[in-house]
Amino acid sequence: MLTAVVGINWGDEGKGRMVDLLSAEYDVICRYQGGNNAGHTVVNDKGKFILNLLPSGILRENVVNVMGSGMVIDMEHLCGEMAVLRDKGVKITPDTLRISDKAFICMPYHKQQDILEEERLAEKRYGSTRRGIAPVYGDKYMKKGIRMGDLLFVNTLENKAADIIEWKNITLSGYGKGKISLEAMMQWLVEYGKPLIPYITDTTEYLLATRCQNKNILFEAQLGALRDIDYGIYPYTTSSQTLAAYAPIGAGVPGVKLDRVVGVMKAYSSCVGEGPFTAELFGEEASALREAGAEYGAATGRPRRVGGFDIPASVYGIRVQGADALALTKLDVLSYLNRIPVCVAYEIDGVQCEHFPGGDRLIKAKPIYEYLEGFKTDISKCRSPGDLPEPAMQYIRFIERAVGCPIEYVSVGAGRDDYIKMS
Ligand code: GDP
Ligand code: MG
Repeated sequence: MLTAVVGINWGDEGKGRMVDLLSAEYDVICRYQGGNNAGHTVVNDKGKFILNLLPSGILRENVVNVMGSGMVIDMEHLCGEMAVLRDKGVKITPDTLRISDKAFICMPYHKQQDILEEERLAEKRYGSTRRGIAPVYGDKYMKKGIRMGDLLFVNTLENKAADIIEWKNITLSGYGKGKISLEAMMQWLVEYGKPLIPYITDTTEYLLATRCQNKNILFEAQLGALRDIDYGIYPYTTSSQTLAAYAPIGAGVPGVKLDRVVGVMKAYSSCVGEGPFTAELFGEEASALREAGAEYGAATGRPRRVGGFDIPASVYGIRVQGADALALTKLDVLSYLNRIPVCVAYEIDGVQCEHFPGGDRLIKAKPIYEYLEGFKTDISKCRSPGDLPEPAMQYIRFIERAVGCPIEYVSVGAGRDDYIKMS
């Protein structure tokens, strides 16, 4: 079984939580894109973990975790993340973690460039996490990248790095900054690369062999459909492909086909960073929802923008993800509401629009809200559909009908077992 677990919306839907739950049935968990701009929260019997780079399967024993070729890796951050997990008793060995030799290294100058550009843009900024993600993907496509596999060939690495740094200094000088030195970069590459060398491998070969043994592979996405570089709200997207169709490519097995796509969506909307967010609520209504859902970025701590569940955006997200089944998360958060806001359509230039629009039409869109009856009860202990109060079931069925895809899981808490299987 090859399954992708992906985000339907703007990210932070609870993918880490769902991967942690579903990974019980899988042998291998692969992250296939993005870098440490991700913040996947997992709460289980070992404690609470925020994973930026490591796949969420790292917390299960007997699971192999793969960091795929589509990822960008800040090695200093990865070493820190591994140390934090080890301190909490998590075992990480070259048998449980494999890093693709084709994944790109996010260098200190990528982070520097990201910060300089956001500062230059000032109020026009993209809302980047400032972790160097856009510059490192940019350099990949400019063919000026350094890959994890380059660490295995130190002799040629220095020449490669020298050429790239010469070019990078031309860019950085435009910001009026001093030059970065080859020596400092080589020192950084050796310091943080050395401990990772045992984990670097040809993950394509490994995954194909795993496939031949009929093992189950789960692909873990970062962010959501609306942040995909091609199909999201460009340029307020991330710089990689967040869609399920990309999972086999970014993991390292471009020739395989997925058997199943599980889309994760929140019972309401949240969005971190800039860009159009039509369903956004403001004032007290927003603060109450933000507090109830603890909507602060897992990677950055930034307050997230919040709104009601957005039907046009979710229908679009489900379509581009090709989701077969859905997980609706954080339903418990809505229990304080007398009536639940749902954005059922958009209004653009005075005309009602059911479809998720592109370009400037999206910027002009205003939400059309409907309100459903609130359930006003703590549902966090519910474990089967029969335990749920009638208005909560009505809410789930309303959304399921509106988006046209079965909701298979409803999550009612952050813990591994806090969920309801709907069928
Ligand atoms: P991801 O980036 O998609 O993995 O999601 P994040 O980890 O950034 O954000 C989801 C947040 O919601 C985390 O703090 C989770 O612990 C929490 N969470 C996930 N599912 C539920 C749920 O059903 N109820 C509640 N109350 N919290 C949840
Ligand atoms: Mg997150």
